[in-house]
Amino acid sequence: MSNRSIGLSASLHRYLLDVSLREPSLMQRLREETAQHPESDMQIAPEQGQFMQLLVRLMGAQKTLEVGTFTGYSALAVALTLPDDGQLVACDVSEDYTRIARRYWAEAGVDHKIDLRIAPAVETLGHAGTFDFAFIDADKTSYDAYYERALQLVRSGGLIVLDNMLRHGRVVDPAPDDASTQAIVRLNDKLHDDERIHLSLIPVADGLSLALKK
Ligand code: CA
Repeated sequence: MSNRSIGLSASLHRYLLDVSLREPSLMQRLREETAQHPESDMQIAPEQGQFMQLLVRLMGAQKTLEVGTFTGYSALAVALTLPDDGQLVACDVSEDYTRIARRYWAEAGVDHKIDLRIAPAVETLGHAGTFDFAFIDADKTSYDAYYERALQLVRSGGLIVLDNMLRHGRVVDPAPDDASTQAIVRLNDKLHDDERIHLSLIPVADGLSLALKK
């Protein structure tokens, strides 16, 4: 499960949520609706959404990017935090998933901030060096390509956040047929040595890598 932080006991995770989660009821409803979905594991954890909101606020981000939108929870979290003239370019390949997303974005009154693109991502996303923040949470075998594109698109001092970098623990011993985890292991090794960024990998949810562009 990536929709709660790994490595915590159930009771400690419950405590963490009890004393820190400030999830608006609309976001809770979206999360509960998504939980009915057969691929609900693709939903991010609520404490992760709140952490990303804090990052966006800390940076004073105006222009943000998301690769992999699903039912729109992470985009909603970011868009609620952006200023009224802020922008989120959200990329996904599924009309089905994002139909749910659009409904909640409209109800939250943030749809004017979100530019949803149903396309195989990252080719036509605007000008290099103009984004403040990027969140990558799509097909794992393409993560390296998304990361390289995001690194072009964010400004110096911009932040790239990559989801699922611990792969539910599978990174320590990836199965031979698990191409997704193998791709993440290779990317973790690459990020470790990447002189273009400042790096931190934190065990929030399923592991978030924070790559701050130098
Ligand atoms: Ca994810």
